[in-house]
Amino acid sequence: MARPKCPKCDHTRFESTLISPKNGNFKMLAVHCAKCGAIVGMADCHDVGSMVQCLAEGLNISI
Ligand SMILES: [Zn+2]
Repeated sequence: MARPKCPKCDHTRFESTLISPKNGNFKMLAVHCAKCGAIVGMADCHDVGSMVQCLAEGLNISI
């Protein structure tokens, strides 16, 4: 079984934090090492799939 570890310090625990990229007018979710803070992944802070589903239902569109 894979056990994720930080590529910088080998720590195995992670946290997530909302960040605003410089010169950006949006937020993203950063997954980072709980010990050294190295970012290991980024994701949209909104669940885009759920948003599209809600919009389609609101507009009576079948997807
Ligand atoms: Zn680390």
